[in-house]
Amino acid sequence: MTARYDLIVIGGGIGGSALAATMAKAGRSVLLLERTTTFEDKVRGEWIAPWGVAETKRLGLYDLLLKAGGHHLDRHVSYDESRAPEEAEAAAMPLSMFVEGVPGPLCIGHPHHCQTLFDEAARCGAEALRGVDVTSMRFGADPEVAFEHEGKSRVATARLIIGADGRTSTVREPAGIVLDQDRPHHLFAGMLVEDVKGWDEKLQAIGTEGDFAFLVFPQGNGRIRVYGSFELEARRRFAGPDGPQHFLDAFRINSAPANRHIADGRPAGPVLTFFNNSTWADRPFAEGVVLVGDAAGCTDPIIGMGLSLTYRDVRLVTDILKASDDWSPAAFEPYATERAERMRRLRFAASLVATIDAEFGPAPRERRRALEERRSKDPSLGIHAFAIMAGPESIGPEFFTPEHRARVLGEAA
Ligand SMILES: Cc1cc2nc3c(=O)[nH]c(=O)nc-3n(C[C@H](O)[C@H](O)[C@H](O)COP(=O)(O)OP(=O)(O)OC[C@H]3O[C@@H](n4cnc5c(N)ncnc54)[C@H](O)[C@@H]3O)c2cc1C
Repeated sequence: MTARYDLIVIGGGIGGSALAATMAKAGRSVLLLERTTTFEDKVRGEWIAPWGVAETKRLGLYDLLLKAGGHHLDRHVSYDESRAPEEAEAAAMPLSMFVEGVPGPLCIGHPHHCQTLFDEAARCGAEALRGVDVTSMRFGADPEVAFEHEGKSRVATARLIIGADGRTSTVREPAGIVLDQDRPHHLFAGMLVEDVKGWDEKLQAIGTEGDFAFLVFPQGNGRIRVYGSFELEARRRFAGPDGPQHFLDAFRINSAPANRHIADGRPAGPVLTFFNNSTWADRPFAEGVVLVGDAAGCTDPIIGMGLSLTYRDVRLVTDILKASDDWSPAAFEPYATERAERMRRLRFAASLVATIDAEFGPAPRERRRALEERRSKDPSLGIHAFAIMAGPESIGPEFFTPEHRARVLGEAA
């Protein structure tokens, strides 16, 4: 028997479950298909930027995330080997300044975040299935998905398929959607640490010393998600059974003494290493199918934008789906146009951050020191932080040009 739905959503992570919940709440019939039977720590995003938090509010999902344990951060410190820790701490930045009504970034564990949204989709009326193996997909005017679930083969049709199946999407290629990518600049590893005592749970921090650049995002209750950037050549730096301990040890640095609290914590999950590059699909749709979230491309994780991007995608796509019964490719042009420019700007910001924070040795160290000095006289040299915290549209197009990049890096244009 073939069942018919308004929407079939492939992938029940952040984007798929948020979209399924929103459209089921709007009265549409939704089939949500998730491959896994439990959400596990695959080292994904657990920090939502203030502009992404605003997107969760617009989707009506913010209170749900808070109730599920969402943890707000309120201050940021940038440490660096070229300045004393006290100096860095005295320049702590309040995080409520970026988006009105948003106290700061929101942190929530990725597996728990996915489960919370998946349950919400089911509560709102979506048929939400786990342990699904999608065996075939047909796009075009009459989209169809065949899948195995609990030992049974099923076929479903819908007006539209949503591909929300993450970085390694299996929807993208058969749908004929092209993904571009830039070159990796460095490697990026992450791990969850628990039992951390002594770190201020409202404080996020970044810093660079020697051959390592770190990022710290507390989750509350002594748990902290930490990331580290390092050179491409050191691929196996945190591999093997001692990898988690080596990763923790990398946080013991002179210019950020409070990091010792993290290094004294306990690994609470795997340490996984990724290339740091960005990917993007300029046209994330085709007839009968639209991609959201990582499936449509994601920016370099060094700026932690994927969750915010995904929530923006879900809002834009569900607004189109709710606005009219025209679900033809032409209806999704405004989504593609907005997304292409959003990704271009954040790619630019990510590349700037990677160049400044994740290059190592005397010359990059001197460039960071000189930039800090110039930035104290000309704050526009640090304005890319607004694109990251307040949203890529919060600053003018002139800050996403080769000339601006050259000015920030102190190079001739
Ligand atoms: C190291 C690292 C650090 C990051 N840090 C941050 C951060 O701090 N802040 C931030 O905003 N973003 C961050 N991100 C990005 C963020 O995690 C992602 O952008 C976000 O999870 C994307 O959500 P999604 O729903 O598109 O994909 P996912 O969350 O990956 O969900 C995809 C779902 O699809 C399912 N699936 C896959 N294939 C199939 C299939 N064939 N059938 C059915 N289901 C399928 C998967 O099981 C999964 O549940 C980071 C990413 C990395 C790699």
